[in-house]
Amino acid sequence: MRTALIAGNWKMNGSLALVERFAQAFVETRMPAGVEVALMVPSPYLDAARQAFGGTLVATGAQTLHSESGGAFTGEVSGSMLAEFGARYVLVGHSERRTLFHEDDAAVLARVKAALAVDLVPILCVGESLTEREANRTEAIVLGQVAAVFDVLEPSERERMLIAYEPVWAIGTGKTASPEQAQAVHAAIRARLKEYDAALAAGTRLLYGGSMKAANAAELLAQPDIDGGLVGGASLQIDDFLAICQSA
Ligand code: PEP
Repeated sequence: MRTALIAGNWKMNGSLALVERFAQAFVETRMPAGVEVALMVPSPYLDAARQAFGGTLVATGAQTLHSESGGAFTGEVSGSMLAEFGARYVLVGHSERRTLFHEDDAAVLARVKAALAVDLVPILCVGESLTEREANRTEAIVLGQVAAVFDVLEPSERERMLIAYEPVWAIGTGKTASPEQAQAVHAAIRARLKEYDAALAAGTRLLYGGSMKAANAAELLAQPDIDGGLVGGASLQIDDFLAICQSA
């Protein structure tokens, strides 16, 4: 069975004090059995988060990495550096990276490869814009983004991936995909994975992201092909984030 994962994405927000407050809440709150929780903090907070969450089961992750392992790339951070500071997961291809930092499918693939090379678990983010949805291109876009990575990976690499379906029009907008809309895309992704291998399709965790909050999480997470959530804004509010974890 697929273990649910609730992953928070702090984006470029937070502070050392917030890391400490979350750690305290994780110690005081009983997490539901069988649910994994992870927080993608800004890279400078990874070490503090690893230490602060050490007594809890909450994992840490990063929000991006460079595709090279080292070199003259001023300002960038490599996968091995993230791993050294305790990251287990890394987001790749988040829509903000694709849009604001012009990461195309080739750049996303290179980053996935770099993450796998140092045993980080990549969470590949895919999703359509509003214009693409309105032009009935959702499946073509999303499955194209999945194929751009999965077609190239070795079977043993595909098994180490997670995918987050995040409709771009739902990220940070307060607009959430309905459970039916989200389930339909998740089912299409799983069907696409079946073309590689039935066991891969059955075992790969697919997360939903896009304005997930305490009020809508349970319904989304109850869908058969939604195995967890990638939570942006609500992951900065302790009570909201814990409530989402409880509904998984
Ligand atoms: C995200 O950043 O991945 C995200 C889903 O953000 P939000 O929950 O704020 O829409």
